[in-house]
Amino acid sequence: MTPTDQLRAMSEDHSAHNYHPLPIVVSEADGVWLTDPEGRRYLDMLAAYSAVNFGHRNPRLTAAAKRQLDRVTLVSRAFDHDQFGPFVSELAELCGKDMVLPMNSGAEAVETALKTARKWGYEVKGVPADQANIITFEGNFHGRTTTIISFSTDPDARDSYGPYTPGFRTVPYGDADALKAAMDGSTVGVLIEPIQGEAGVNVPPSGFLRAVRELCTANGSLMIADEIQSGLGRTGTTFAVEHEDVVPDVYILGKALGGGIMPVSAVVADQDVLGVFKPGQHGSTFGGNPLACAIGREVVAMLKTGEFQERSRTLGAHMHERLGHLPGDLIREVRGRGLWAGVELHGKARPVSERLMDLGVLAKETHDTTLRLAPPLVIERADLDWALDQLEIALKG
Ligand SMILES: *Cc1c(COP(=O)(O)O)cnc(C)c1O
Repeated sequence: MTPTDQLRAMSEDHSAHNYHPLPIVVSEADGVWLTDPEGRRYLDMLAAYSAVNFGHRNPRLTAAAKRQLDRVTLVSRAFDHDQFGPFVSELAELCGKDMVLPMNSGAEAVETALKTARKWGYEVKGVPADQANIITFEGNFHGRTTTIISFSTDPDARDSYGPYTPGFRTVPYGDADALKAAMDGSTVGVLIEPIQGEAGVNVPPSGFLRAVRELCTANGSLMIADEIQSGLGRTGTTFAVEHEDVVPDVYILGKALGGGIMPVSAVVADQDVLGVFKPGQHGSTFGGNPLACAIGREVVAMLKTGEFQERSRTLGAHMHERLGHLPGDLIREVRGRGLWAGVELHGKARPVSERLMDLGVLAKETHDTTLRLAPPLVIERADLDWALDQLEIALKG
């Protein structure tokens, strides 16, 4: 047995099978390249679902982490530390908001945003006790907690986990009339992915995000943008809502905020919203820890230059141009923005991702028939072109 076979057998035997990974083991990574125990190299076209937007072991981010490792890594929120104030103020500034509530995983930040909206609804909007509703969209993916999967429309994500958390209404993604009809005086928030990632990189119809913004304003409901996957440069702008010049009331951030090193997430909003929390009413032992804040500060500094957004814009335009030239007998449709594409196939995507792996390119199917392409934003044009050449070969089967 090769080292890869041995390691895969251990995973297979001793880990829960809640994932169906490609049959590869990664032992090292650098930039956009991954290496397995046998020394084979693979180009990463997934970037850990956009958590590795800045590339594997980005030198600026590992340097920030190493500096912080030698200073202080955890104090809990019982004490302030010297990375916390700078992190929350720098991230708030990047978002154009007043305040940040840092957490760890994306799902925790989504939960935090849901709690924020409910608390704001009761204490500021004046919704009667326990009557708040939050509107979500068909095809949504916001994480894996019991409450979050309660409003999932994906049977795999939801089935057998009841009883479900009440207080959510789900309408078709892209349907402003349905959203309007679902809203009432007790609607405290509308939770939306500006582009649905897990559903297959679904870009909403033009004008939809603006309609959501207007309906939320008219109804006095919070527009909550889950930018965990779409944000922080992935679509060619800092936030995907910018494509429609929309400013949500609440941003939910995660994934790339931790630079591919740590789970770092956050809810970002103005004082009239996040100000609802008083001591003891919400928290997290690791949320906003010194190591996370030091890495998050570097991420924010890197995004402030606009360099990564620009790369995503220009390389993304190139990628979409090339994907657009793939013949119709190979693919059905291409969706996405920036360095982010959902390639809709005529048949199953899994065999294509396995052939791609054999060709040295790692991309993962999402659902049955969609191949997702989301390389680190540091990818060079020649590497991108090589990956797209391999894709064409894999599609021809
Ligand atoms: C990945 C993701 C989440 C959940 O993040 P975790 O860190 O996996 O909990 C939530 N929302 C969106 C849009 C995501 O892509």
